[in-house]
Amino acid sequence: MTGANKGIGFEIARLLAERGITAVIGARDEERGRAAAERLGQPYVRLDVTDPASAQAAAKWLEEEYGALDILVNNAGITVWQDDPRPSVTGAETFRQVYETNVFGVVTVTNAMMPLLREAPAARIVNMSSELGSLALAIDPDSPFWPHNYAAYNSSKSALNMITVAYAKELWDTPIKVNAANPGYCATDLNAHTGFRTAEQGAAIAVRLATLDADGPSGAYLQDDGTVPW
Ligand code: NAP
Repeated sequence: MTGANKGIGFEIARLLAERGITAVIGARDEERGRAAAERLGQPYVRLDVTDPASAQAAAKWLEEEYGALDILVNNAGITVWQDDPRPSVTGAETFRQVYETNVFGVVTVTNAMMPLLREAPAARIVNMSSELGSLALAIDPDSPFWPHNYAAYNSSKSALNMITVAYAKELWDTPIKVNAANPGYCATDLNAHTGFRTAEQGAAIAVRLATLDADGPSGAYLQDDGTVPW
C-alpha cells in the first residue's frame, strides 16, 4: 500500500488489517510511516513512489519477508494548489510534478511489484483514481464536476484510468485483477479537509476491490454504488 501513513490510505490499511490481512504500510517518510504502522500494529516499508530505487528496495524487502504480494493499493497521490488551475495558465512543470506521483509513480511501483504479484495465487491491484478523472463527467455541463477544471490533477487521474485498463488487459488471462477506485470527496489533507465524506468512507471501495473474488471485475472504474463513467 502506498501513501498509507495518513488519509484514505491509512484507512484502507486499517480496514484490511481488521480483516486479518497483513497491511504493509508503504510511506516515503520513515518517521510518519513507522508511526502509522505502529498505530495499526502492521509492518512498515519505506516507499517513495517517485523514486524507482525505493520501489525496487521495497519489492526486495517484500520478497524476502513474504515471497509474494496479494494486494497492491496504489493510493499515494498529490495535488498542487493553484489559485487558477485552468490549463491555459498551468505550466508544464505543474503537470510534470503531479504526474510524477499520480501517474509515473503508479507505473514505477506496479512494475517493481509485478514479479511478486505474479507469485500470489490471485493478486489484486487497486489504483486510487478520482471522479475528477472521468472524461464523461468533466465534459457534462450538468455534472457537479463541470466547474472543477483542475487540469493537472484531473488529467493525471484520467491517465491513471487508462493505465488501469492497460494493465487489466495485459493481465486479462491471469488471475490478477486491476481496477480503479473513486473514493468520493473525502476530508483529508489533500483538500484541506473540505471533503464531505470521511477517509474511512473513501477507503471502502478500495477495500472491496482489494478483496474481490474470482468473478469480480477487472479493468473497471468503481465507486460505492457502482461504475463511474469513463
Ligand atoms: P492525503 O491525506 O494527502 O494522503 C496522500 C498520501 O500520499 C500521503 O500518505 C502522502 O505521504 C502520500 N504520498 C504523496 N506523495 C508520495 C510519494 N512520492 N511517495 C509515497 N507516498 C506519497 O490524501 P488522500 O485524500 O488520502 O489521497 C489518497 C488518494 O486518494 C490520492 O491518490 C488522491 O488523489 C485520491 N483521492 C482523494 C480524494 C479526496 O477527496 N480526498 C478524492 C478522490 C481521489 P506524505 O504524508 O509523506 O505526504
